[in-house]
Amino acid sequence: HEKDIATPGRTNAILKKYKLTMKKSLGQNFLVEPNILTKMLAAAEVDKNTNAIEIGPGIGALTERLAQEANKVVAFELDRRLAPILKTELAQYENIEIIFQDILQANVREIIAERFDPADRLVVAANLPYYITTPIILNFIEADLPIDAFVMMMQKEVAQRMTAKPGTKAYGSLTIAIDYYTEAEIAFIVPRTVFVPRPNVDSAVLKLQRRPEPKVKVADEKFFFDLVRAAFNQRRKTLWNNLMSRYGKTDEVKQALTEGLEEASIDPSRRGETLTIEEFAALSDALVKRLH
Ligand code: SAM
Repeated sequence: HEKDIATPGRTNAILKKYKLTMKKSLGQNFLVEPNILTKMLAAAEVDKNTNAIEIGPGIGALTERLAQEANKVVAFELDRRLAPILKTELAQYENIEIIFQDILQANVREIIAERFDPADRLVVAANLPYYITTPIILNFIEADLPIDAFVMMMQKEVAQRMTAKPGTKAYGSLTIAIDYYTEAEIAFIVPRTVFVPRPNVDSAVLKLQRRPEPKVKVADEKFFFDLVRAAFNQRRKTLWNNLMSRYGKTDEVKQALTEGLEEASIDPSRRGETLTIEEFAALSDALVKRLH
């Protein structure tokens, strides 16, 4: 892989040739270590029966490897300055399509239906623009798209929050949202030294696999996620105080909370961060019928 785009030599030559200055505001840090890509492709189990959606191809480091190992690649890139670079440097691959659009605005469902055979595997692979990691992932998993797995590079701390265990500082409403829809694991940690320019944070590759059914069954999804957010609203406060603030400090709410917590066997003096997703589900079902 000596001539890969994802090497310092080739990347610097491309940047020079096209006089490209990277935009920090777009999260442009390009990967210059081919081994990281090898490990990402292995984590995503990419083969010729797999199609890939890429977010933020940049100058094509990951795109190139996906084109070599997957069936077809559709990549979304916001920065139009990259169009001539990608067109020229990836000219030899006929299985790449670049769509110049903000991934948060794109109609991914329609693109998938038009471009891919539903019989093939479909993965999302990306070295994400870090400033929008969370909205990108939540958009994808909440949309319930026919995607088998996500293998995405992000800031290490964000990956840790997405995979945190109850009772830890990193555990929060984001952890619950990820766990509700997917099985999440950190595939490996990536040092900041493998990017140009070098970012101020380390990274991790997160692997998400969509669950066939949400992890817990709840009567009212919207109420459940709202309850979870409320429980974590002020992390130093007890569950009781956070829920009183959310639902109103009235006698009716007091009674509903007392009964609901009792029914779900949850001690009101606990902190939200100690509750498992199953406990949140039980509490949600016990409260929704009393507060609605
Ligand atoms: N894939 C390349 C690599 O690994 O070297 C580049 C990764 S770089 C961390 C993130 C890329 O996402 C940049 O090319 C940036 O222009 C692009 N990007 C930023 N915001 C975006 C958005 N809203 N939609 C699509 N792409 C975006």
